[in-house]
Amino acid sequence: MLIKARPFPLNQIRLLSGTCYTLQDRNRIYLHTLDSDRLLHTFRRTAGLPSAAEQLGGWERPDIELRGHFMGHYLSACGQTYGSTGDELLKNKARALVAELGKCQKANGGGWLSAFPPEFMERLKERLPVWAPFYTLHKIMAGLLDMYVHCADEQALDILLAMAAWAERWADPLRDDEMQRILEVEYGGMSELLYNLHAVTGDPEHALLAHRFDQVRVLDPLAEGRDELKGEHANTQLAKLLGAARRYELFGEERSRRIVEFFWQQVALHRSYCTGGTSNQQRWRTGPDVLASELSATTQECCCTHNLLKLTRHAYGWSPQALYADFYERAFFNGILGTMNPADAMTTFYVPLESGYWKLFSLPFDSFWCCTGTGVESFAKLGDSIFFHDDHGLYVNLFVPARVHWPEKGLYVRQETRFPDDDRIDLEFQCDTPVALSLRVRVPYWATQGIEVRLNGESRKAAAEPASYWTIDRTWKTGDRLEVRLPMSVHAHPMPDDPTVQAFMYGPLVLAGALGNEGLTYEMMYADPVNARRGEGMRGDPIAVPDLVAPSDDPGDWIRPAGGPSVDASGAEVVAGSPLDLTKTAGGLDFRITGQPRPLSLVPLYRLFGQRYAVYWRVKRA
Ligand SMILES: [Zn+2]
Repeated sequence: MLIKARPFPLNQIRLLSGTCYTLQDRNRIYLHTLDSDRLLHTFRRTAGLPSAAEQLGGWERPDIELRGHFMGHYLSACGQTYGSTGDELLKNKARALVAELGKCQKANGGGWLSAFPPEFMERLKERLPVWAPFYTLHKIMAGLLDMYVHCADEQALDILLAMAAWAERWADPLRDDEMQRILEVEYGGMSELLYNLHAVTGDPEHALLAHRFDQVRVLDPLAEGRDELKGEHANTQLAKLLGAARRYELFGEERSRRIVEFFWQQVALHRSYCTGGTSNQQRWRTGPDVLASELSATTQECCCTHNLLKLTRHAYGWSPQALYADFYERAFFNGILGTMNPADAMTTFYVPLESGYWKLFSLPFDSFWCCTGTGVESFAKLGDSIFFHDDHGLYVNLFVPARVHWPEKGLYVRQETRFPDDDRIDLEFQCDTPVALSLRVRVPYWATQGIEVRLNGESRKAAAEPASYWTIDRTWKTGDRLEVRLPMSVHAHPMPDDPTVQAFMYGPLVLAGALGNEGLTYEMMYADPVNARRGEGMRGDPIAVPDLVAPSDDPGDWIRPAGGPSVDASGAEVVAGSPLDLTKTAGGLDFRITGQPRPLSLVPLYRLFGQRYAVYWRVKRA
């Protein structure tokens, strides 16, 4: 069996009260606020159908070549949100959009469906400049597939099948070398989508078409264990690897597995920051393990984190090691959760890692960046990687309050926790009849102080190395309760190529220096609504950040719990950008850097909004 650990379908997971639940809900409400006629405007115009709706801004403006991409993300996010929450109103809204898209496809002749005309595809063939038409088609096709998978929307599948037939007719006359040249232009996850479609239809034509989107120039070196990623656009490549992952899962082709595992190792372990994010100015500009020079306002595009986490789920499924789940947790907290401002559900394009910058958020109707699209998807499926399973057991991978339903075992498991504000998680069992099951709780790489376990109140032996699983085999019955404590500590995360440049972490959380809001205006914290293409750029400069003096090698000695409200560089109390409770740290996660010429506070990066921050510091030994 190729797949050794599987996630649960979204409709078998329910988030319980906590940060993830709140962010999922903010995202759900944002999806409701987007007007259907505005989303459809450019699709209708392109199909020659009337539309009087107000046009959307940003990358959805009618003169932007990527227009229509967000419709695809939107359908995916609505489908996933329905899976995650059962929101019938949102499902119905998305199904109505699908029906309207069906009218556009019919008006276009029955195959083509896009917010731009098919002439863009001719430009692709003729080597004329055009901005990633297959990337955009992929989003729409993936959105339709998600509506079929999560909402059983048969019409969405019909529209998708007609789009796939159109793509097949388009690609059929092209020689392989012509097709490979076309694949030099970003094409999103076309291969992944078509392999996924093949998994639904069983139609070999879909697998053959998918394979035409496997790019030899990128995949061949990876199969041979060569990292030739320097200079490449990061997210463009990540999407291609998801196709390779599905090819392995569907056809058992070992070469595709080698490609994915080598790529994952290079990107996750040698090209990622402490946050689990990757890319600078959207690219890998250096060789592996060269990152100290790669700190800027445009580090780690959020699309990359989204897609790298999707890839991590595949690799974990083939080989369920804590290594993968550890990475997932790190990128999940630092690279996903902290990219939404909980006050208004707006998300970021990047997570700046050059010290002295701040988080820049999208606008609700005037950004629609690529990362706005992956953003609404990320926050629609926050529960998808908490639990995994095989036939005999359950893996608990993320410490997030949630309930999983496992109907084949007649079992509900409820995880109650205030993690990371508290280091304790409780797992409660509810079983139709007693069920024999292996329970495997991840012992994170950061749990270097050991863990404590109590089963039904009784202490259990809990010898488990960091980055492994603590496993218990027994017959579980309703009312059983396992309590696990995972003590966290402060540790340094040095740059691989310059150990004097360090970030500090507490458990899986990247700690950010809270530098206050000197010179920051509201406008600087949100996108430029006028300049659609470059609206994602920072307006303003970073402030200078002091070097740190390390009194000892163990940062736990001199980075101490604050035990009170945070203070900024001037000593004033820090109030995070939003009045919402979850943006205020709970005290226990606030730290002070002692022994410095002026007071410095650290708070979890994922809870820091509306002020300047520093993740990496130049550290000098006292
Ligand atoms: Zn992006």
